[in-house]
Amino acid sequence: MIINSDGSPLNFNNKSVCFDDVLLEPQYSDIRSRSEVDIGGNLSRHRLGLPILSSPMDTVTEETMCRTIRTHGGLGILHRYNSIDDQQRMIESMYNDVDAIGAAVGVTGDYLLRAQAVVASGASVLCVDIAHGHHALMEHALKSIKDRFGDTVCVIAGNVATLKGFNDLSDWGADAVKIGIGGGSICSTRIQTGHGMPTLQSIMECSKSDRSAKLIADGGIKNSGDIVKALAAGADFVMLGSLLAGTDESPGELFEDITGKKYKAYRGMASREAQMDWRGTVSSLEGVATTIPYKGSVSTSLKDLEKGIRSGFSYSGARNLAELQARCRFLEQTSAGQVESSTHILR
Ligand code: IMP
Repeated sequence: MIINSDGSPLNFNNKSVCFDDVLLEPQYSDIRSRSEVDIGGNLSRHRLGLPILSSPMDTVTEETMCRTIRTHGGLGILHRYNSIDDQQRMIESMYNDVDAIGAAVGVTGDYLLRAQAVVASGASVLCVDIAHGHHALMEHALKSIKDRFGDTVCVIAGNVATLKGFNDLSDWGADAVKIGIGGGSICSTRIQTGHGMPTLQSIMECSKSDRSAKLIADGGIKNSGDIVKALAAGADFVMLGSLLAGTDESPGELFEDITGKKYKAYRGMASREAQMDWRGTVSSLEGVATTIPYKGSVSTSLKDLEKGIRSGFSYSGARNLAELQARCRFLEQTSAGQVESSTHILR
C-alpha cells in the first residue's frame, strides 16, 4: 500500500508503523550532486545545517560531544545528571567558542535554579527532558521557564507520543517538542509499563499539528535511512543516542575485552546503573546499561550520516526538507521485504 505524507492515508489499516515497516518510494530526481541539497533547518534563532541533536545522556553528551557536533552543524544537549556547578563548568568551557549550546533540565526540585544557572553561563537552548512529557509537572515547568525567560531562550520539551501531547507542550511554551516514547535502543519502558508508540507513528501523528513548534524525532533511530524516513514523515530534526555513543567524543572510559576489541559504555538514564550513579537510589527501571563497540571519532559517524541523509533527499528528488515532505511516498514492506532491504549476501 502506498501512502502520501499529506495527512490523510497515514494509517496502515490501524496498525502502528515503525521505521522497518516502511520504505520511501524512489522519485524522479534532477539533483546532480548531494551538495545541492539543504538538509538543515532553523531551531529558533539557531541554524542547524545538520538536522541532528545529541541526546542528553551521561554516556552521550558532555562538552566534547557538544563542541564536535556543532562543528558539523548539529546541536549537543548537555545532560543534567550532575551538579549545577558541573553543568555550568561545561558550558563555560565552551562559551564563545561554540555558538549554540543546549542544556537539559528536569521538572522538579532545583530545575528552575538549574535553568537560570545554565542560561547565565551561556546555554541558548534549554531542553526540558523527562520520560513522560505529557504531564502536569511539564506544564508547570514550561510555564515557569517561559515566564522567566520569555523568548530569549529556545525551549525544547519532551518526550511525548501523541498529537494531543505535541499540541499541549507547544501551547505551554515549547519551541520544539521531542517525540518518541519507548523506542530508544536502551529503553525498556514498553516492557515495564505496557505503554509507548512506535516513533515513526508518533511523528506521523504529530506532523498533523497546526502549531508552529518544531518536531524532534527521538528514540530508535538506527541509521541514516531511519533519519530520512523520520524527516519525510514530518520531523524537523532527529535526536540520537546510540548512533553517537561509543565514540571518542562521548563521555566514559574506553576498555578492551580479552581479544583486544574496544568498547565504551552506553546506558539508559533510567537504568539501574545510571540511577544509582546520579541519585544513589533506583526508582522505576525503564532502561538498560550495555556496552557498544568503539567507533572512533564521532566526526566520521556524523559525516557518514550526513552523506546518507543527502542521498536520501536526492532519491525523493528533494532539495530541502519542505520538498522532501511534499514529494515523499511511503510504502509498507512485508517481513520478506525487510529481509531483502537489509544486506543479505549469501555465505
Ligand atoms: P537511541 O538513539 O535509540 O539510543 O535512543 C536514545 C533516546 O532514548 C534518548 O534520547 C531518550 O529519549 C531515550 N532514553 C534515554 N534513556 C532512557 C531510558 O533509560 N529509558 C527509556 N528511554 C531512554
